Amino acid sequence: MIDLRSDTVTRPTPGMRAAMANAEVGDDQYGDDPSVNALQERVAALLGKEAALFVPSGTMANQVALKMLTRPGDDVLVGDEAHIVWHEAGASAANAGVQFTVIGQGGRFTAADVRARAKPRGHVVQPGTTLVCVESTHNRGGGFVFDPVEAVAIGQAARELGLGTYLDGARLFNAAVASGRSLAELAAPFDVVGVALSKGLGCPVGSLVAGPRALMPLAMQARRRYGGAMRQSGILAAAGLYALDHHYDLLAEDHANAALIAQAVAQTPAAIALDDVQSNIVIFHLPASLPNAATLVARAHAAGVWVQAFGPRTVRATTHLDLSAADCATAGRVLAAAVLAGA
Ligand SMILES: *Cc1c(COP(=O)(O)O)cnc(C)c1O
Repeated sequence: MIDLRSDTVTRPTPGMRAAMANAEVGDDQYGDDPSVNALQERVAALLGKEAALFVPSGTMANQVALKMLTRPGDDVLVGDEAHIVWHEAGASAANAGVQFTVIGQGGRFTAADVRARAKPRGHVVQPGTTLVCVESTHNRGGGFVFDPVEAVAIGQAARELGLGTYLDGARLFNAAVASGRSLAELAAPFDVVGVALSKGLGCPVGSLVAGPRALMPLAMQARRRYGGAMRQSGILAAAGLYALDHHYDLLAEDHANAALIAQAVAQTPAAIALDDVQSNIVIFHLPASLPNAATLVARAHAAGVWVQAFGPRTVRATTHLDLSAADCATAGRVLAAAVLAGA
C-alpha cells in the first residue's frame, strides 16, 4: 500500500530508533533532560528565537502559543482554512477562549487585510484584536509557502497596531526547503513560531514552540495545564535531533515526489492549482462530472494507493520519508486513472 494520507504515517527508521534507545534522559519537569534541553536550544537557534519548548503535538504548540499571546475574549486574525480553526476540535475556543476573524482568501492575506480588520483594544463593544496567525506551509491550501515578503509587511503592520504574531509552522521545515530561505528568515517576522517534528521530519512524536524567553513561563504553564508536561521525554527529543541531522535534507525529495503526483493529476479534468504545489502536499478538487472524493479514495485504495478525502469533492495526497519516487509515480498513475474512470 502506498500511503499518502499524511506525512504523519511514517515509522521511525532503525537509525532513529537507535538514537532514541541511546538517548541521555532526566526529569524534564526539573529541567534535567539533556536531550530535551539540546533539542530546545537547537531549534530556538535554527528559528532565530531566544528559547523553545518541547510539546507533544503541533496542536499543543498552537494552543500554547495562544496562551502566550492572548487573553480570553480576544480576537485573533487568521487566514482562511487554517489548521488552528479547522483541525483542533475547537480547542482555541475551549482553551484560550479566543474568537477568530478570518481574513484574506485560501490561507493568503496581506498587511492591508490586517490593518482593515483589526479591532480596537479597550472598546466597550468590540472584541480587541491582539494576535495575527499565519500558517506556512499551508495545509488545506495545498502546501504553498506563505509569501515571505508579505509576512514581513504583516509583522510590521502588527507591531504598529500593537498585535502579537504567531506562525503555525508545523511544516516550516518544508517551507524553508521549498523557498530556499532559512528557517530563521521565515520565522523572523513572528513573535512566536510552532514547528512539528512528526510531519516531514519523520519523528514519532513532538513539536516545539519558540519565542522570547520572557514568554516561556506562560508557555510552560499552559503546557502543564494541558497535560503536556513530560518527564524523560529525551527519548522523544533524541528522535528530533536525529531527524534534524539526517532527514531535513531529504524533504526536497518529498517535494519532487509531490510534483510527480500533481503533474499526473493535472493531465485529467480534476482541478488542481499546480502553482500551489510547492512542497509535499497535493490537493485537487473533483467537479460534479467526476467521481466524488469518497469514490476516488475507494478506487485508489483498491489499486494500492491511499489518499485522504479532505472534503466531499476534495482529495489530499501527502508525500513523505517512507515513499520513493517510483511509489509516487505509481500513485500519480493510479489517481489519474481513478479520476478518468468517471463518476
Ligand atoms: C498537522 C498540523 C498541526 C497539528 O499537528 P498535530 O501534531 O497533528 O497536532 C498544526 N498545524 C498545521 C498547519 C498542521 O498541518
